[in-house]
Amino acid sequence: MKKGQANHIGRRLMAVFAHPDDESFGPGGTLARYAADGADVFLVTATHGEMGKLHGKNPPVTETTMAGIRTEELDCACRALGIKHELILGYRDGNLSRVDMRELTGLVVRLIRQWRPHVLLTFPPDGLTGHPDHMIISQAVKFAFEQAGCADYYSDQLQEGLKPWDPLKLYYYVVPASLADRLGLCVNGTPDDEITTIIDVSSYSGPRGSAIRCHYSQLIPHQIHGHQNNEGEEQAKQLLREQNFFLLENIRMKRGPRMERDLFEEICLQTTSPEKNGTRERNPHTSY
Ligand SMILES: [Zn+2]
Repeated sequence: MKKGQANHIGRRLMAVFAHPDDESFGPGGTLARYAADGADVFLVTATHGEMGKLHGKNPPVTETTMAGIRTEELDCACRALGIKHELILGYRDGNLSRVDMRELTGLVVRLIRQWRPHVLLTFPPDGLTGHPDHMIISQAVKFAFEQAGCADYYSDQLQEGLKPWDPLKLYYYVVPASLADRLGLCVNGTPDDEITTIIDVSSYSGPRGSAIRCHYSQLIPHQIHGHQNNEGEEQAKQLLREQNFFLLENIRMKRGPRMERDLFEEICLQTTSPEKNGTRERNPHTSY
């Protein structure tokens, strides 16, 4: 545990993404930081990433082979980031938009009820990159955040012994529009003044870098061998390596107006036990 950081033992963070590598290229530094700091970090990945191209090309590799490669790469990345709990749901890569949303949401609800995270993390509704799989998983996690604590939803799970559970916060991993512009990134940037939370991950560039290198099949030549950036690009890249940015989409408690520096800010384990007794009513505004 790093000196000077809050001790997050007993706190639980569940990150839900679409493909192996989303976690490392995205909030890898944040996941590594909380894992190192004692939190239980759960990573859920919807697909095996079998449609990913090998080094940006389409060589003759079967989908089964690719799924195996990427599953091993994800295991490697989780070890690098210190994540002890990982699960691949096994949906077909590129096909989430054809999955029944109720089924996918129910699966995420089940995991929330099993793992009882205080904080949920996923992509923003636009998927960050616009990838349909990213957008669908974002939607499913948002619905699951709203429904997992209500006994009326997926009540069959309660008959199996699971209990309703309300996560306290839902975050989207985002990139500030100013940085996206400076770097010419193919992502939907979030207006800088809408960002609610900045996490210092400057001490975790090592684990994050290792995790990214684990996803070797998805690296393209300039990422493997490096390429020269101009000074402005290098500064922006440095900032992205040292800080992760988030949008607090939903919260079940009061928060102040100031910029958050911790995903668990305001969460006090002694006073917030969000385990439900099944009496919360169905939210009539939630729909598929
Ligand atoms: Zn992805």
